[in-house]
Amino acid sequence: MVVLMYHRVCPDSEEVTSRYVVSKSNFRKQMEFLSRNGYYTPTLDKLLHGTPKENRSRPIVITFDDGYLDNYENAFPVLQEFGFSALIFLVTDFSRSANWWDRPGRLGNVDLLRPHHIQSMSKAGIQFGAHSFSHPRLPELDDNELGEELRKSKLSLESTVEQSFSPIAYPYGCVDNRVKDAVRRAGFHCGFAVYSGPLSYSSDLFEIRRVFMTNRASFLYLLYKAYGADHLVQWALWSVKKLFGLQDRSRRKRQM
Ligand SMILES: [Zn+2]
Repeated sequence: MVVLMYHRVCPDSEEVTSRYVVSKSNFRKQMEFLSRNGYYTPTLDKLLHGTPKENRSRPIVITFDDGYLDNYENAFPVLQEFGFSALIFLVTDFSRSANWWDRPGRLGNVDLLRPHHIQSMSKAGIQFGAHSFSHPRLPELDDNELGEELRKSKLSLESTVEQSFSPIAYPYGCVDNRVKDAVRRAGFHCGFAVYSGPLSYSSDLFEIRRVFMTNRASFLYLLYKAYGADHLVQWALWSVKKLFGLQDRSRRKRQM
């Protein structure tokens, strides 16, 4: 099963200059492709209990990182049109209303969701997870900082939405075994990475790999992304790097 990862979904009037942005019309084409090809979006508890298939053949998970306001304005109506759910990972310091951790021109200064948007989407079946409290590279934090980031993030998520489970997505996809242990101890139920983790999500619920979606909507692109080819290619690349000890750069940097 494939987990798609998005960040921003911008209005069609905005020029897309970043790989982290998909235009609303291309996002709609992507969702239309999934819908036409029989995909459906199981809830996270179904996934975690290992029974995402029901009677239908093609489960897929749609995720968004950071929690941009445009997820509410542009992605949410399209998701509703096709009857899809999604999982949005929030940076949970709600005292800030725009992205403060990235440089402008990338995703910096882009407006974030406010709690009332989150609650209104939650009522309509969108699920939420934590994406840390302040978007640091978690492997670079010491044990105390790491524990605090996770504790504050989980608390803030739980006081904003009512859910029976708490997933997390690692900022920048950076994760190592120490981070995974801390995430488990903090009470999260699963963790989403980007280009790391086993081929099957159920082999390690704390390092679920995702497929990076960009602003394209050709048939071949969507076939490659949705049917698992990209998932397989990225997993093979990661496995080769792991074999030669090339992964975990952030962890080595921290130790240096
Ligand atoms: Zn992020």
